Amino acid sequence: MRMNLDRSLSGFMWLESDVATNSGLMGDTTQCDAKLLFGMMPEELRAVVVGLGLPKYRAAQLADALYKQRVPSLDEITTLPAELRQRLAAQGYAVGLPQIAQATLSVDGTERYLMRMADGETVETVWMPDGDGGERGDGSQAALEEEADEAIANDKEQDGYKRATICISSQVGCAVNCRFCLTARLGMRRNLTAGEIAGQVAAVLNRQRVRIGSGRGVERPSRINLVFMGMGEPFLNYDAFMRSVHLLRAMGIPESRMTVSTSGIEPAIRRFAAEPVRPKLALSLNAPNDAVRQRIMPVTRKWKIAALLDALRAIPLGKREYVTIEYVLLGGVNDQPHHAREVLALLAGMKAKVNLIVWNPGPGIDFREPAPEDVAVFHRMLIDGGIPTFTRKPRGRDIYAACGQLKRTVDGPELLVELR
Ligand code: SAH
Ligand code: SF4
Repeated sequence: MRMNLDRSLSGFMWLESDVATNSGLMGDTTQCDAKLLFGMMPEELRAVVVGLGLPKYRAAQLADALYKQRVPSLDEITTLPAELRQRLAAQGYAVGLPQIAQATLSVDGTERYLMRMADGETVETVWMPDGDGGERGDGSQAALEEEADEAIANDKEQDGYKRATICISSQVGCAVNCRFCLTARLGMRRNLTAGEIAGQVAAVLNRQRVRIGSGRGVERPSRINLVFMGMGEPFLNYDAFMRSVHLLRAMGIPESRMTVSTSGIEPAIRRFAAEPVRPKLALSLNAPNDAVRQRIMPVTRKWKIAALLDALRAIPLGKREYVTIEYVLLGGVNDQPHHAREVLALLAGMKAKVNLIVWNPGPGIDFREPAPEDVAVFHRMLIDGGIPTFTRKPRGRDIYAACGQLKRTVDGPELLVELR
């Protein structure tokens, strides 16, 4: 894998040529008024097929090509007769997977992609071979595997990873405006559709040539985990987010391998708690009290910490399942021992585990990284207080692919050059 990537340029390089062949819109229409098939549910595909006067089984073939085989263009759906493909194209239909416009490789194996949507808007998606430890301790399949894997040293798959995590975006930009987050600088441009959210995963899996769910693991590893932790607030694009969960399941990824992170949109958390099919949930708490939180996350004006934690308690958890509390450590702001004591008091009696995230700097963002000793003390205090706590490994920091560093770089590569 990754044989096309040249590591000679200080650990990363731009790639614009080799990516269009196995993912994206090449050979397909790029007009934004095209009717995009990727994103349609089975019943919608049936309506399209029946509308063309064709038998229903063609819809099943189409769904299989889109979601199981992830065929990137109509031309290549060879299970359908050429005449049918032409008719679909003539009616303005296209597959419509996002196109990987740029790929950037980190020294740690992380790849960051600039994904271009049919209307030209772009978001970022990140591939992290071996994950980032973000699922640890939540009782998910990903976490149990990671813990088991640690016991088996030096047992990597041939292509260099045993499992991978894909971090996907839910909006172009974000309206929540957290002070420490680079994505916030973009403002909110638009919601992604469900097809665009799930399509990021399809494009990355195509690029990495991953086959999911075939041959009981005889094929390439199917241990793909997803985190909705890229650009945007998934719970402010709730319907498209939930719909994408169903599309992703159709692609063979169970919801037990997905984690959605929210900055804390209380009514959406309550709605989520009632969903019959639900990924794992992570709440970005990030502060020990409402006063600090409001300073760094203005959304706190609307929903207070107590209300958010109350909403979390409404989520039915499996026996081994924990809800994840994310906590970005900002030097001097929320990383001191008295803050840790407040966090312990907030989480007392909750079935929660904490993911500490060391703040990743970004240009023009006026915070400082926490001192390593402060991170260690904070971590230890939570553990001693009885809360399972993990400090997340920063992945792809050299290429601005780590948490909160996602920002479209289509306007110029200056962010990348800066870190050489
Ligand atoms: N909008 C959602 C999901 C995307 S952000 C949310 O906020 O939860 C994913 C995680 O990255 C959140 O926990 C957020 O607090 C964290 N984050 C944002 N900016 C960061 C930065 N610069 N360094 C480290 N973590 C950051
Ligand atoms: Fe949006 Fe999450 Fe960044 Fe806050 S941390 S601005 S909610 S992406």
